[in-house]
Amino acid sequence: MKTSIIGYPRIGAMRELKFACERYFKGESDAAALEATAKELRLRHLAAESGSGLDFIPSGDFSFYDNMLDTAVLLNAVPRRYRELGLGALDTYFAMARGYQGEKGDVKALAMKKWFNTNYHYMVPEIEDDARIRLAGTRPLELFAEALRAGVQTRPVVIGPFTFLKLARYTGSKTAADHAPAVVAAYRTLLEDLSAAGAEWVQLDEPSLVTDLGSSDIAFFRSIYTELLSCRRPKVLLETYFGDVRDCYTDICALPFEGVGLDFVEGSRSLSLVKAFGFPAGKLLFAGVVNGKNIWKNDYASTCRIMQDLARAGAETVLSTSCSLLHVPYTVKAEPDLPEECRARFAFAEEKLEELAELKAILSAPLPEETEEYKARAALFASPRGGEDPAVRARVAALTEDDFVRKPDFYTREKIQKQRFGLPLLPTTTIGSFPQTAEVKAARSRRRKGEMSEEDYVAFAEEKIAECIRIQEEIGLDVLVHGEFERNDMVEYFGENLEGYVFTRFAWVQSYGTRCVKPPVIWGDISRARPMTVKWSTYAQSLTDKPVKGMLTGPVTILNWSFPREDITLRESAMQLALAIRDEVLDLEANGISVIQVDEAALREKLPLREADRYSAYLDWAIPAFRLVHSGVRPETQVHTHMCYSEFGDIIRDIDNMDADVITFEASRSDLRILDDLVAADFRTEVGPGVYDIHSPRVPSKEEIAAALRKMLAKIPVTKLWVNPDCGLKTRGWKETVPSLTNLVAAAKEVRDENK
Ligand code: GLN
Ligand code: ZN
Repeated sequence: MKTSIIGYPRIGAMRELKFACERYFKGESDAAALEATAKELRLRHLAAESGSGLDFIPSGDFSFYDNMLDTAVLLNAVPRRYRELGLGALDTYFAMARGYQGEKGDVKALAMKKWFNTNYHYMVPEIEDDARIRLAGTRPLELFAEALRAGVQTRPVVIGPFTFLKLARYTGSKTAADHAPAVVAAYRTLLEDLSAAGAEWVQLDEPSLVTDLGSSDIAFFRSIYTELLSCRRPKVLLETYFGDVRDCYTDICALPFEGVGLDFVEGSRSLSLVKAFGFPAGKLLFAGVVNGKNIWKNDYASTCRIMQDLARAGAETVLSTSCSLLHVPYTVKAEPDLPEECRARFAFAEEKLEELAELKAILSAPLPEETEEYKARAALFASPRGGEDPAVRARVAALTEDDFVRKPDFYTREKIQKQRFGLPLLPTTTIGSFPQTAEVKAARSRRRKGEMSEEDYVAFAEEKIAECIRIQEEIGLDVLVHGEFERNDMVEYFGENLEGYVFTRFAWVQSYGTRCVKPPVIWGDISRARPMTVKWSTYAQSLTDKPVKGMLTGPVTILNWSFPREDITLRESAMQLALAIRDEVLDLEANGISVIQVDEAALREKLPLREADRYSAYLDWAIPAFRLVHSGVRPETQVHTHMCYSEFGDIIRDIDNMDADVITFEASRSDLRILDDLVAADFRTEVGPGVYDIHSPRVPSKEEIAAALRKMLAKIPVTKLWVNPDCGLKTRGWKETVPSLTNLVAAAKEVRDENK
């Protein structure tokens, strides 16, 4: 029995790569310093992996920003606008990732999208008609050679050609099929080069295979690999994750892959596929049995059952993780403050390496159930687990249909609210947070360490809120926000104020580029112990006559951005969270807050990848959970929601059915196709598609924003359109925030005048 992982976290246990990149972006260090940090991290991770006894160790899972972007650059898919900047290779790469505004030009970043059903974002490659796709880089070879010099034969990892072609965006008239021959030729060269460099295996990641595929997709996949696998090459592991390959399992088995990776955690049909169709002799089945996405220890008993079933089905197996460990933090060892009962049940990346080693020992023993490792784990799973709250369980059990319906209906409320607020056409607002400056972060951290008294901290936060309100009034925004200065993170903040959560100190997980999140852990039943945001919101409202939005995170997002429990259902957890947030909504309303925004930034993210599972496994409880949050408010209270993406064309009726009064969402980085979907669905919720991209430091001009608004008005009635950036401003500086919002207000005014 051998062990393997699909990928390892790369940002650094102390987020070293993040800080090194950010120093480089600010011009405080040079490329050599950045490369040096990167190399040190790679070698450290390599040592951890090989030191744990792992048999198959990946290389090339490292990236400065994103692996999809790496693949695009490797294949020379660099759009003209970035080439024309005339920057060096590294800066061109970062221009694609972050946009560029400087003496050489002014270009936006590539679009960014959620990576399947995770909170990781990838950069969407753009392929122009005249793209000259070829193998244009040597990065996979260099990283392989670097590891080899350190004494480790690794398995280079690259995103596979099928997934690359499926996820890329084609800006001209050519399609994936038109570019496929050049892409496959580039991969062939890469495989030949890796073979010549001494690589025994290469791993091609094809997560697109776990999505719904039609016969033309499958034919496309087969033609790509029939061609690719016929070169002089290392052994190829076709790796899949985030689901099962029910549409193409037999096609995969029929192709000459030496290894196939299947996900037995999220792949609900993986085991039945192998049992039903068998697994080809002479090949290795990399069985993803250790969850790469969650932080709970593995249940060895059930894992052993899967491995034994696979053996019985005739498969020669390798123990593996279900997906890259990129999605979990580094190590529980960095968390000495966690209660012992929690530590005993957690496994982060390093501990998952240990679990693979233990499972290998267990499964290599003549009587697995008799091994110490097996028995210890069985005892842990049999021991009682704390955190249950019967009152919470009873409250969820007592919910009835009426609790999920807000009254009166949308249109009646819309009229009442138009009257109450008297806002101008095209009202302007922001998504909630304002720049989290070093000063703001420092104050929070001093408070946390007890170096600042609660009194001083409140005074500090109030000063920031007052400043933020004054700036928004000066800019002339219509619906204001308090700025969220008290929040480190939109989920962690609520977690800290709710019962049932536990927190880590260093358990960061990469979200996009240099950005990391620290998901809290749902340990027990959830309830609200005390008001969480009321004092900040009411203070902000006391400073102005304009409405200030109360800002909350919705239950589905809190759940999706936490590490969820595995001992109760997601539905049960969502309802517990919804009741807690509902209590806060009603408190805000009772304290004079007239607009309440409940962010569901991550609702789309956990939408099952396959259509067949969407309602039963998710929407049937996720949408009701949101409705439960606001069904108790008065008709004149305006409920907003916000989503960090616009790819909800396929669930647009469900989004409307959340029954919010206003929704803001990201639209500036993607094309405005969503507008057609809104028209087609006769969308009734008022909408604020983001008019500029906050993920980049670029300042949008008034003309640019006005042009975006005019485009939107071709599809959306002027009485329904809101004007706002596409997400919160916390990652931006004031330097770009004020001019950007000033331009936004000026653009809204200009377009408003045209529509009077
Ligand atoms: N209200 C949050 C903010 O502005 C929303 C953030 C998000 O959507 N990710 O920061
Ligand atoms: Zn957002």
